[in-house]
Amino acid sequence: MKFNKLLDNCKIYEAGKPIELVVRDYGVDTKDIIKLASNENPYGTSPKVVEKIASLSKNMFMYPDDSMYELKEALGKKFSVTSDNIIIGSGSDQVIDFLVKAKCSENSKMLMSRTTFAMYEIYGRQAGAQIIKTKDDEHNLAQFEEMYESQGADIIFLCLPNNPLGECLDRDDVYAFLAKVDKETLVIIDGAYQEYASFKDSKKRIDPADLIEKFPNAVYLGTFSKAYALGGMRVGYGIGQTSIIKTMYKLRPPFNISTLSLAAAIEAIKDEEFVQKCIALNFEEMTRYEEYAKQRGFEYIESYTNFITIKFDSNYLSSEVAQKLLERGIIIRDLTGYGLNAIRITIGSKEQNTRVFKVLDEVLEDLKKVENL
Ligand SMILES: *Cc1c(COP(=O)(O)O)cnc(C)c1O
Repeated sequence: MKFNKLLDNCKIYEAGKPIELVVRDYGVDTKDIIKLASNENPYGTSPKVVEKIASLSKNMFMYPDDSMYELKEALGKKFSVTSDNIIIGSGSDQVIDFLVKAKCSENSKMLMSRTTFAMYEIYGRQAGAQIIKTKDDEHNLAQFEEMYESQGADIIFLCLPNNPLGECLDRDDVYAFLAKVDKETLVIIDGAYQEYASFKDSKKRIDPADLIEKFPNAVYLGTFSKAYALGGMRVGYGIGQTSIIKTMYKLRPPFNISTLSLAAAIEAIKDEEFVQKCIALNFEEMTRYEEYAKQRGFEYIESYTNFITIKFDSNYLSSEVAQKLLERGIIIRDLTGYGLNAIRITIGSKEQNTRVFKVLDEVLEDLKKVENL
């Protein structure tokens, strides 16, 4: 059967491997599996949110409040914007989809960093957009500027901080770049890990209200999947000028997040203390990964997120390291698909990380032995 030709150039998104697969394929006990492949919060969901959801489980038969009034009010208060500036998505992924569909048609251009969140390109290709990437893996604004000037773009993506590498541009540099961008170009600032970046370094902090006031062609994206520990509930949001949000609403299916997801997000915003505690622990544990990499002579990228990217030299293949870890029940991300000999590990809890270091040492030792045979 023939399908939409645009899909011929579309890749299928490869999600982090689920725990169930490791149980099935490698016979590892569920309790021994450590999943550090999708940047979930390793401390689990706030107990207050869990309690709330348990008490609401009888409400499953009802559609959610489609206006999402309470959640938008709470987000509006948190970010000093009005509800009209906010759209809720089934994960911020869906908001990206709305934005790309709203702006792109065939032969529109999308500009992004060479190694960044894979969904930008996937949604772009679905819309028939031409994908333009900068040369460096990490965000390089000089390259963005040069390519924008020479080729133009309908959409520019900036992932701040960037997944899967972890680096983050300074706000002042981003603003200086945005000042040179035409108001007809939609700029998407993906803040999926902004809570982490602004905790570590206030120079990285993007304030959505300030952003959209100064740059009405910019939209800020946030998610409850990472620091707010609700990956399984699928709630994200976009913040932008009312005219942009109104246009996106034309693309939104009704009831696009579930009754329980909506309640979970509303409750999660109330427990900022939990979120801040998790973020502090994240960076404490991050230093252990940095020490580990230094001691073994591996390069890593300084990270403003809840994961770290470690690069290997020619002594190891990241795909082999990832596979051996998987067989021992540790799920991480191999970055070979991005053209890098590197792995991305979500920062786990203290116990999880201790085990990762031990097993990673064993795996590296095994791979060295094979090499020497
Ligand atoms: C995780 C992530 C998202 C969105 O996740 P959702 O679960 O769909 O909200 C968006 N951008 C980046 C860079 C991410 O890492």
